[in-house]
Amino acid sequence: MKTIAISGGKGGVGKSTIAVLLANRFVKKGKRVILCDCDVECPNDYLLLGQKLKRPEKKIYTEFPKLNKKKCKKCGLCVKTCRSNAIFLPRSEPKVLLRGQVPGQYPIFIRDLCSGCGACWSVCPHKAIEPKKEETGKIYLNKISNLKSQISKPNLKSQNSNFWLITGVAKAGLEETGPVVAKVKEFALDFAKKIKADYVLLDTAAGTHCPVISSLMNCDLVYAVTEPTPMGAHDLNLILDLCKKIKVPVKIILNQANLGDKTRIKKIAKKYKIKIEREIPWSKEIVKAYSKGQLLFSTCDVK
Ligand code: SF4
Ligand code: SF4
Repeated sequence: MKTIAISGGKGGVGKSTIAVLLANRFVKKGKRVILCDCDVECPNDYLLLGQKLKRPEKKIYTEFPKLNKKKCKKCGLCVKTCRSNAIFLPRSEPKVLLRGQVPGQYPIFIRDLCSGCGACWSVCPHKAIEPKKEETGKIYLNKISNLKSQISKPNLKSQNSNFWLITGVAKAGLEETGPVVAKVKEFALDFAKKIKADYVLLDTAAGTHCPVISSLMNCDLVYAVTEPTPMGAHDLNLILDLCKKIKVPVKIILNQANLGDKTRIKKIAKKYKIKIEREIPWSKEIVKAYSKGQLLFSTCDVK
């Protein structure tokens, strides 16, 4: 089983399009494929594949810290331990100390910055922090069986019995979605083992933050999708740097290759000694199909 991530740093460069086309390509070759949409804040592969997200297959829970003031001795160890800066100790002293209360302030937890890593309740010497489970997302599983209707040229047939889509959706308003992505990926890899999949394709979010790192870790290959624009080049640099740091092999796919200036992208590819695997030209036909929620499997198959 091979795990391939489709990433690229910049948003809107065609990551999801490439991911769906690549999945289709493998399915046509008779492979068993799982496409896992790891862009949990705004997944869209299901739209491109004409699917509906009906009943979740699984709910995702994350544990967050809950302070037990009766046990807390205000030592500040949890504050020093938290790498997400999600805990702080207010400086000002309370004017009146209640009976049994030690001087100093209780730590304050900033829920939006917390990743639920559990370091604070592991280090607290007084067991004053308790983990509290909260629902943070859902996982949907679709067996793709109506690819044909999504193909603009209806005479094209696609084998459709070996194609599954896994979609992760984070709870609205959740700031730290890295743990949700990690659980969606874990579910996809377990499911892949169960059905003996040949490929797991991970369609990542834009950027190089925690949710993207969670998707890319331990992949066999990353396709960095980019475009020949200054922003495309800037974000390509970041994603290639990240892949180098986490030691995953990467290849570049240059989308809309006939627009803009390719020189910057070529320079970056040379700097990192990475191949531009494929150039996909801009085409009005592709844009038109995309605007209707369709994909031209025939014209832009990823070889
Ligand atoms: S480590 Fe425990 S006792 Fe110390 S401040 Fe944090 S919660 Fe309170
Ligand atoms: S669970 Fe982790 S991120 Fe959240 S407050 Fe505790 S140490 Fe910080």
